[in-house]
Amino acid sequence: MYHRKQTRPVKVGNVTIGGSDEIVIQSMTTTKTADVKATVEQIHRLEEAGCQIVRVTVNNMEAAEAIKEIKKQIQIPLVSDIHFDYKLAIKAIENGIDKVRINPGNIGKREKVQEVVKACKERGVPIRIGVNAGSLEKHLLEKYGYPTADAMVESALHHIQILEDLDFHDIIVSLKASDVPLAISAYMKAASAFAYPLHLGITEAGTLFSGTIKSAAGLGALLAQGIGSTIRISLSADPVEEIKVCRELLKTFGLVSNAATLISCPTCGRIEIDLFSVANEIEDYIAGLKAPIKVAVLGCAVNGPGEAREADIGIAGARGEGLLFRHGEIVRKIPEENLVEELKKEIDALAEEYHRT
Ligand code: SF4
Repeated sequence: MYHRKQTRPVKVGNVTIGGSDEIVIQSMTTTKTADVKATVEQIHRLEEAGCQIVRVTVNNMEAAEAIKEIKKQIQIPLVSDIHFDYKLAIKAIENGIDKVRINPGNIGKREKVQEVVKACKERGVPIRIGVNAGSLEKHLLEKYGYPTADAMVESALHHIQILEDLDFHDIIVSLKASDVPLAISAYMKAASAFAYPLHLGITEAGTLFSGTIKSAAGLGALLAQGIGSTIRISLSADPVEEIKVCRELLKTFGLVSNAATLISCPTCGRIEIDLFSVANEIEDYIAGLKAPIKVAVLGCAVNGPGEAREADIGIAGARGEGLLFRHGEIVRKIPEENLVEELKKEIDALAEEYHRT
């Protein structure tokens, strides 16, 4: 099996997917791509949240035309999501797209595929092959009876072969399914079958709550094995939530180097403060912080600071107040009503210190 570090590095604009332990975070806009203002606004929110590559649907010529203007107004690489229509792909490439998601086997005549590949080669644009369990080729469904992991990998290999025959190798592959065990199995087989970097995702995962759990289960199982070079969490929610989930998931595996982490106790009968609201506020506050700080929020001081010794900074509840601690040592008391505010200031100071050194 190819570990993500052994995969082929593929450049997408100024971001490299594959060839290292870095996992690139992606999302997709929910706006009409032709509505440049709304699309750019959403991309800016995604960038702010930590999105590193963003995809837009290119489902008509207006959307393909809009790429030019969108590209001028954003910082992160832009990907066009195209189904079947090679003319849309060509137009998106001419307009400066950084990656094209299209399945070469679905484009049609060989000349059309050649044209897309030629345009990609000329501009250094990679192609993502997006295999989806829900839209497998008819002959594979007939061969396997229903969407299986082997059928998905066979589909991916078929599309890869078309590109390799044209001497094109800047390829990224996804094998998405909404069935988590199926997706895990497909990605594992793919990681053994070829060394192109894998774009992980559980498709149609669901709402913020259930989709997060499904995605974390599926992608977590793969990331833990060293599979996957880029991820997208698909949620029926504001795409900014997808980025938050991505970052949290990557933090769990130590795969984000500049993110803050919250440690909070589950609370018990010893609790002395309104811990849930403090924890939620602090979690929101550190979500976009680009510094590897561990913050702890604990209900009481009995075991708290000692248990959270690895935290850089934290609060332990006491009657009507909180004890501020650093690395397990209590440094001062803060009245309960000022807890959040004071903790935020301390976090900012630590983040500044981190950026200075
Ligand atoms: Fe209970 Fe205190 Fe531990 Fe929180 S830190 S779980 S309140 S003993």
